[in-house]
Amino acid sequence: LPLIAVCGRPNVGKSTLFNRLTGSRRSIVGDEPGITRDRIYGEIEWAGRDARIVDTGGVVPDDEALIPSEIFRQAQVALEEADSIVMVVDGRTELASPDMELARLLLRGGKPVFLAVNKMDTEAMQSQAENFRRLGFRNVLAISAEHGSGIGDLLDEVFASLPPEEVDEEPTEVMLTAADEMAEDEDGPQPVRKLRTHGDYVQKETKIAIIGRPNVGKSTLLNALTGTDRAIVSPIAGTTRDAVDEVVERGGHSFRFVDTAGIRRKGKTKLMAEKLSVVMARKHLEAADVSLLVIDAVEGVTALDANIGGYAHESGRSVIIVVNKWDLMTTARTDGKPPADIKIYEQQVRDALKYLEYAPLLFISASEGMNIESVFKKVELVSRERRKRVTTGQMNRFLEKVDFQKASVPMAKRIRIYYMTQAAVAPPTFVLFTDKDVKMHFSFERFLANQIRDNFGFIGSPIWFKIKARN
Ligand code: GDP
Repeated sequence: LPLIAVCGRPNVGKSTLFNRLTGSRRSIVGDEPGITRDRIYGEIEWAGRDARIVDTGGVVPDDEALIPSEIFRQAQVALEEADSIVMVVDGRTELASPDMELARLLLRGGKPVFLAVNKMDTEAMQSQAENFRRLGFRNVLAISAEHGSGIGDLLDEVFASLPPEEVDEEPTEVMLTAADEMAEDEDGPQPVRKLRTHGDYVQKETKIAIIGRPNVGKSTLLNALTGTDRAIVSPIAGTTRDAVDEVVERGGHSFRFVDTAGIRRKGKTKLMAEKLSVVMARKHLEAADVSLLVIDAVEGVTALDANIGGYAHESGRSVIIVVNKWDLMTTARTDGKPPADIKIYEQQVRDALKYLEYAPLLFISASEGMNIESVFKKVELVSRERRKRVTTGQMNRFLEKVDFQKASVPMAKRIRIYYMTQAAVAPPTFVLFTDKDVKMHFSFERFLANQIRDNFGFIGSPIWFKIKARN
């Protein structure tokens, strides 16, 4: 397994972070003569991938004279053993010379290094993390080990820096439902898989943003979805204080509708309401995994819908297009026209929201309770799809089959892909090792994304690419 090292002085919150990441799954490796004193190892799973993690630990002694050797030892352990290194500093105190010394050693080591600025418990504080850039790290992330904020982003980046997995197996699906956890056999229910991720990181909950312009039926939809099943009303620790989430538990899966107060908020004038709907959409997307882009069936896709859809697309969240008020398009049409043809209607929506071609589309009526069940089903589907992982072996067998001649890209804009690997999930992110360090031509990117979808699905999720020129 790849190894991630955590370094830093005591009291910066290193142990809190380490415990949060590993939960109880750690082992203390005691005094092996001459090698270590108190290195602590743990295991972590993030987005379907396992890694080991080591707290390079050590106590930086009070005795000034001993500091350099302890710092040196920590850095040495990290640089020798680890594939990726996280250095932790306390964002609320001034940098001390051991911090700078450690940073200097780590940065020279040639391994991927990340600076986690800890104790940034509020959003306002997070901007202060920028002050720590002067340590020289390119990757600086504000976190709160205690509250759990920023940890997901940190893990995304650290895991993306790990060497590609070379195992050849079926894609692992990380999302665990009650059904996955228990499988019947002769002796009754048996746990087939342990929850391999710990604490907050078990991917059994989907955070959902309901977005759309005013009066498309967002709050009506929220009510229909949460209705009688509503279980808890609580904010997520470590997120915005004024946000209230509603959680619906069904079939072993939790659906967390983020910031439901925001979904119900209305602007006073039409213009204010419209502006607010965009601001809210962006805010809700930040907190979500999956978004429901609600469209008013009677009005069709407007410019504002397309604008909000664009933000959803760019956010990397999965998208489901929900055409609401469909009751008004069937028999009860108020404009006297015959019932709308669902196929033709869908095509019109697709044409107006081209960049969301990967998003499933549902026709519902929130107020009549029509097709609400399918919303849950689709959320569960796209939530699973966005966390799917394709092995490097599968990816490269796929790549051999792709006929790149079919991509309508000018010769000069063509790039050669030596191999590619999935570096991250949620959204699925692929690193392309290429001959040139250029931005991909958009039609090439689209071609490749579609080929990937045809082979591996990733329903509802955007696909991201990163280019790495070889040489
Ligand atoms: P929001 O601003 O997007 O939250 O929209 P609301 O949920 O407040 O809904 C706006 C209006 O549309 C209200 O008058 C709702 O009763 C109505 N509405 C919402 N969903 C439906 C639906 O499925 N069918 C019909 N006919 N009306 C709906």
